[in-house]
Parts: sequence; C-alpha cells; structure tokens
Amino acid sequence: MKYLGIPLEKPKVGFFGFTGCEGCQLQIANKEETLGDLLGSIEVMNFRLISSDKNDGYDIAFIEGSITTEDEVARLKKIRKQAKTLVAMGACACLGGVHNLRSRFPLEETVQAVYGDHPIASGPVRRISDVVPVDIELPGCPISKPEFEWLVGQLIMGLEPQFPQYPVCVECKQLLNTCVLDMGILCMGPVTRGGCNAICPRNRFGCWGCRGPAEEANYESLIQILRDHGFSERKIAERANFFNAFSGVEAIPALENSDSL
Ligand code: SF4
Ligand code: SF4
Ligand code: SF4
Repeated sequence: MKYLGIPLEKPKVGFFGFTGCEGCQLQIANKEETLGDLLGSIEVMNFRLISSDKNDGYDIAFIEGSITTEDEVARLKKIRKQAKTLVAMGACACLGGVHNLRSRFPLEETVQAVYGDHPIASGPVRRISDVVPVDIELPGCPISKPEFEWLVGQLIMGLEPQFPQYPVCVECKQLLNTCVLDMGILCMGPVTRGGCNAICPRNRFGCWGCRGPAEEANYESLIQILRDHGFSERKIAERANFFNAFSGVEAIPALENSDSL
C-alpha cells in the first residue's frame, strides 16, 4: 500500500474475541469484495475466526466482546501488554453491550436457573475500558465494515481517527427521512452518536443506541418527548438500557425500577 507514492508499513494486527456473539469479527471476515485489499494492507498475526495460526508479535489488537470471567481479565491484560494500540470493537467491548441486561438479575440465581449445579465462572459484565486502558473505541452492533476499513487506513497512516460525535438525527435529517417518532416508533437517535447513516430509522426501526452517547446529548429533552409521545417508562427504560449505552445518565429511567411501572 502506498500513500503519496510512499510505501506504507503493514501493521501487525491481532483480533481477539471475548464475551460476545462474534458478529463484529464476522463483519470483517465477511465482506469478500474488499477482503483481499484489507489482507494486503495488514499482517494478520492472530484471528481465530479465519486462521488457526497464532502469533504474539502484533502491534494493534482489536478486541471484541465484554469481559465476564477472571480468565478473560488475565487474557486481556496479557494482550494489552503486547499491543501498542488497543481498539475496543463493537458495543459489547465499548459499552458492555446487550448481555449487560443480565446485570438486572441476581447473578447466582440466573446462573442456577440456566445451568443448574454445573459450575460456571461467569462474573459481572465489564467494558474493556473497565479492565485495561483503551486507545480507540470503534462503535456499533455490529461494527460497520467500511468504518473498520477506514479506521485501519487511519492507523496505517499514523493519523488519530475522529469519529462522528453528532447524533443519529443529523444523518437521518440529511436523508430526508420521516421521523419514526411520528409513526409511533421509539427512537434514541437524538442522544446516540451518528456515523451509521441512520440505518435503523431509514428502515423504519427506531435507534437502539448501539453506537453509544452523542456529545452534549440532551437526555431530559428526549425523555420528555418520548413521554409526550405516549411511551411508558418501562418501554423507555428497556430501549435506553438495551446496549448499556447511557449508564450513569440520571435522566434515563433505570431498568430495575421499570418492572413495577
Ligand atoms: S457488538 Fe454486537 S455484533 Fe459485536 S460481538 Fe457484541 S453482540 Fe455481537
Ligand atoms: S427517526 Fe430518530 S434519528 Fe431520525 S429524526 Fe427521528 S428521532 Fe432522530
Ligand atoms: S440507528 Fe442507532 S441502533 Fe441503528 S445502527 Fe445507528 S446507532 Fe445503532
């Protein structure tokens, strides 16, 4: 790969999956029309989904999934020691993700109900940044392959990637979409970081917040608008907490309280 006629060095890259569905890694392996170019611009040292080869000489580590066991903590710390750049990839890694919903039930009882007396080492759901320092967060559930490829290009050229900070509504309005709120569909677009080209509202689904919070989001205003549109506290809480994107935001109704509403 060349930039302005200058040959660029291929970064040595490792991909690692933790607690997640492997959908983000699959995104990377799946887009065949650009896979050749991608593999020509990086040196894959470790990627269980596409190769049984395992090498530790990587500089960049892409981490998928959240952390739920002590084994995973130890493995992640080892990867962090090796990697010069660590990228948390996808909503599970960046936010805790959809399986963070488990946190609303007592852990022991949940494990017992599903696995009986079989011993399971599962602990609380943690983001990657709860365990080790993260250099870059690549958002989405799953991540977008074009955005991943753009990020790889930025890393190869030694640039600091800048992700959109504006909300999904900006892209939604640019596309002249009819707002799904006016169709009675709940949408978190006003407080969620854009960059997905409003793919959900564009297809008549509300946004679920998978890319995490937008900068300077006005949560109070959105929650009031959702109430004015007739959505119950429980519906709002379920949607807003789905990816754990807005944890710690006071205005967002908590799921624990929503059962009684
Ligand atoms: S972010 Fe979504 S697609 Fe990626 S591992 Fe988690 S659940 Fe799967
Ligand atoms: S559909 Fe959602 S993202 Fe689009 S303008 Fe309405 S609230 Fe914003
Ligand atoms: S519209 Fe919302 S839920 Fe859908 S991909 Fe974009 S950020 Fe994620």
